[in-house]
Amino acid sequence: WSIVKERNLHVPVLLEKVIENARLPNLEGSIFVDCTVGAGGHCEKVMELGIFSKCIAIDKDEKCGELLKENNLLRSVCFIQGSFANIDEILIQERVKSEDVGFILADLGVSSMQLDNPSRGFSFSKDGPLDMRMDLSQSTTAWKVVNEYTEEALCKIFRELGEERKWKRVAAAIVNERQRNPIETTCQLAKIVCAAKNEYPRHRRIHPATLTFQSLRLFVNNELNELNKFIPKALKCLGPFGRLAIISFHSLEDRLVKQTFKEYAEKSEFRILTKKPAVPSEEEREANIRCRSAKMRVIERYPKNVE
Ligand code: SAM
Repeated sequence: WSIVKERNLHVPVLLEKVIENARLPNLEGSIFVDCTVGAGGHCEKVMELGIFSKCIAIDKDEKCGELLKENNLLRSVCFIQGSFANIDEILIQERVKSEDVGFILADLGVSSMQLDNPSRGFSFSKDGPLDMRMDLSQSTTAWKVVNEYTEEALCKIFRELGEERKWKRVAAAIVNERQRNPIETTCQLAKIVCAAKNEYPRHRRIHPATLTFQSLRLFVNNELNELNKFIPKALKCLGPFGRLAIISFHSLEDRLVKQTFKEYAEKSEFRILTKKPAVPSEEEREANIRCRSAKMRVIERYPKNVE
């Protein structure tokens, strides 16, 4: 794949709703922080509005910097490889003052380029090494978790992060299998999960290994803990009338976003702009199967002394 082709593979989710929240005259000249720039789809469209003076684009995956460069997006965009859980330090390092930040976006999860690249090991539909790291410099991989963690630890991951009903059976089958030989690839793991659950892939049905894979990915990338750290920091980094929009794809993430927004709206100068989360239209769902579970919540810093 050329890089430009790869970029075309990721369709930005809820793009119109993101634009609606960024297209505000009072944010003119402020800074946009795209915390999960991925292939730059949202980033490019938001910057095309001509409202923001600059974009700080963060992603754990260093490959995103190359994509932005290839697509000539680096003129007004500054790419930082890192976790959004460190947004405060990143903005200090880039000499960005919080009063200048007008819009922060986090579009959680993985991109299509990550999912569809077998060598990244996220998917059971194309065989690849069990990896699942967004940040390739970290040492914990899915291989390490699957082959080295105790059965109890695996049970906890599948039960708590995957909401997998048959977590016990899946963990036991993995431990049983790896006693013979290490489990090396995504398809090998998917087969073990299907056999443990006695459920097999069927056309147009959710694959039986989906929840197991999702929980492993969440664990390997420490996704819920990082989101938990990120939200209060992002709210602190937001200027007056600045907005924070978070798109999540998992019920545990959405719950965390909803609860944290509620706490802040109750005790301080914030107001929630999405009583109900924004979800993709029927049309968007049909065009992009991966957006099905997306939910976007938006909160605004709203100084109380201003009418
Ligand atoms: N909005 C992007 C676009 O339009 O192309 C797609 C974003 S994609 C759904 C999610 C991206 O977030 C991935 O590239 C992933 O590496 C990145 N990511 C996930 N968790 C992250 C974190 N804690 N810090 C920084 N980037 C993260």
